[in-house]
Amino acid sequence: MEDTQKPVITNYADFDLKKIGFKSVTGAELKNLIPKSNLFELIEVLDNEIFFVHRAKRHRVIVRTTFIPELNDFIPKGKGAGKIYVVKNWDQQVAYATKRFYRRARRFWNDLGNYAHITKRKVDNVPKCPCTLCNTRMSIVFKSTNQVYWECRRSDLHPDGRYTTKHWDTGMPPKFVDFLNKNRKRNRSYLKKLSNLFKKDGKVIVRKSRIS
Ligand SMILES: [Zn+2]
Repeated sequence: MEDTQKPVITNYADFDLKKIGFKSVTGAELKNLIPKSNLFELIEVLDNEIFFVHRAKRHRVIVRTTFIPELNDFIPKGKGAGKIYVVKNWDQQVAYATKRFYRRARRFWNDLGNYAHITKRKVDNVPKCPCTLCNTRMSIVFKSTNQVYWECRRSDLHPDGRYTTKHWDTGMPPKFVDFLNKNRKRNRSYLKKLSNLFKKDGKVIVRKSRIS
C-alpha cells in the first residue's frame, strides 16, 4: 500500500491496513471508542461494518470501508461511501475528511488504502509553524469548500502578527504528492462535468463515474 505503483487490490481480504499500524474495529466498537464524536451525526454507522483506526498523538485516522466482513458484502446501498476521517483526540470532533470512495470503482480498495496511508503519514508528522519564535505544531483547517491546509494561530508570536499556513501535502514524499494530484485532477474534471450537465439539464444526474 506504500507503493502506489503496486498491483490493484481488489478485495477486502487483501486490504491489510494492520500492516501499517491500523487496528480494525466494528462500528459498534467505534461508537464506544469516540462516543462524543460528531462523526455519528455526519454518517450512520452500522454496528457490524468494519473500520480501521490509527491513533496518533493528537488525532485519530478513521477509515470507513463500508464493508461487513461477516456478510462478506458491503453495507446496503444508500448508507454511504468509503471515506477517511481525521478526528481530534481532545474533543473527538472531525477535523478533516477525504473525498468519497465508491465500492464499484475498480480501484476502490487500492485508492482507499493509499489515502489511508497518506492520511496516517500526515497526522503522524504534524508540521511545525515556520516561525522560529513560535515552533508550535500546526492545526488542520478544513473548510466546507473542501479546502484544507495547516495553520498556526499564535499570531502573538509571529513577527508580522498574522496566522501562518502550510500546504496540506507538506512533508509528503513526491510519489504521494503525484498520486494525490492525479486524483485531484480527475476529481475536479468529474465535478466540472457534473456541474455542466446540471447547467444543461437542470437536474442532478446519477453518478456514473467512479470519481467522486
Ligand atoms: Zn506559529
